[in-house]
Amino acid sequence: MAIREDVSRVFELQSEYKWVAKNTSAEYRISQLRKLREAIVRYAPEIERALKLDMGKPDYDPFIEEVVNTLHPIDDAINNLRSWMAPTTVTPSPGNEGVREEIRYESRGVVLIFGPWNFPFQLLFEPLVPALAAGNTVIMKPNEVTPHTAAVSAKLIRETFDEREVAIFEGGVDLANELLELPVDHIFFTGSPAVGKIIMSAAAKHLASVTLELGGKCPAIIDRTVNIDEVAKSIGAAKSNNNGQLCLSPDYVLIDETVKDQFVDAYLRWVDNNLYLDGRLDPAATSHIVDDRNLARVLSYVEDARARGADIVRGGDVADGIPDMIEPAVIVDAPADSAVMREEIFGPILPVQGFAETSTVVDTIRRGTKPLAMYLFSNDDSFVNEVVDGTSSGGVTVNAWASHWGEPRLPFGGVNHSGIGRYHGVWGFQELSHAKPIMRHAN
Ligand code: NAD
Repeated sequence: MAIREDVSRVFELQSEYKWVAKNTSAEYRISQLRKLREAIVRYAPEIERALKLDMGKPDYDPFIEEVVNTLHPIDDAINNLRSWMAPTTVTPSPGNEGVREEIRYESRGVVLIFGPWNFPFQLLFEPLVPALAAGNTVIMKPNEVTPHTAAVSAKLIRETFDEREVAIFEGGVDLANELLELPVDHIFFTGSPAVGKIIMSAAAKHLASVTLELGGKCPAIIDRTVNIDEVAKSIGAAKSNNNGQLCLSPDYVLIDETVKDQFVDAYLRWVDNNLYLDGRLDPAATSHIVDDRNLARVLSYVEDARARGADIVRGGDVADGIPDMIEPAVIVDAPADSAVMREEIFGPILPVQGFAETSTVVDTIRRGTKPLAMYLFSNDDSFVNEVVDGTSSGGVTVNAWASHWGEPRLPFGGVNHSGIGRYHGVWGFQELSHAKPIMRHAN
């Protein structure tokens, strides 16, 4: 059957079944989540193989990071779903005495999920968890840039769920556009801000609600009150995670001018000790750049910075003998209008900019679009507060990297350019639900 007809057929099925799914019990939804968990564990070796083929993801024990990061939210939902689903009783305001008031969380209906390529399994399946927990039906589209992971994701879903509950279609932009024609109830999109705009205008045609988990430039801000060697280790580990192809990657560093050189030395030492073997970049140390288009994009930032006279301390060329890796680079004091300071890098290039005044930090961040996350390394609370209060970002971690992402009791998401909406824990359940107020008067 042609894919267009198949998409319409599944949409019709789900549009009918969503009224059943809406009223399923906590027990039923928990059984679905358990089924999903078991399938992911069973498929873990295949998922791991696919991720290696798609982007050379390194080994983890016992499961690859993407699998573990998908199991945690499932367990959290299984453990908490009953309390999340319970209606909230509200005390009436003066004048409404005697009226019974409550908020019920009802499913949104048919939810469309689009995944990115950088964590092609995890970020396709993580939104599925709150979508199922909230009683929705789901149509998923894995990213076409990582086809092996897309194929195993499709196999897992088709084997585990009835298509009226969860369906999956593999394809690229043409399929994305076909799916965007459907009058679904909600679209959960993880990807670039550029495509996020396309998604939002498509959703507007049907007034579907949206969750947009987007990207941007996440700054790491370092003052002189911290242990610079320790911070350099933290930034090294963060920046090399998935070879910088991560929405939460520290995109660039803003550092007190007096400790800038010390930081650059310590960062490069970390890189040497952890990503190189006998003086050569270790191809097993981190993921590879996903495709030629992204390789060319990242290399172009280095060229542009070089042409504008920035100091490329080192790296920035294709690695010797590894055509899909780039030697990790540090670029010091790149001009504000250089591509590396304007665009999300999504690769192993770290611009390091010195500052003398807190106002420079605030102005630099305000000049760009609102970041998905901001990392502050400082023991000076007034500095931290001045930067946090003077700027806007999706989230903040102080003296560590992105730990706010891993805390299911905190909402995760961007703001404006870095995203709209939030998920994780109860926040994801509520995002994929409609909070329906009900007032009951005595008659
Ligand atoms: P992308 O926007 O290119 O692709 C995402 C999805 O959109 C894919 O399914 C793709 O098929 C579809 N798509 C692409 N072009 C389209 C078009 N013209 N019309 C309709 N659909 C289209 O994103 P990506 O390159 O896969 O991911 C990288 C981006 O995602 C980065 O900006 C990164 O910061 C962001 N990201 C954000 C988060 C988060 O949680 N906030 C997580 C991971 C990645």
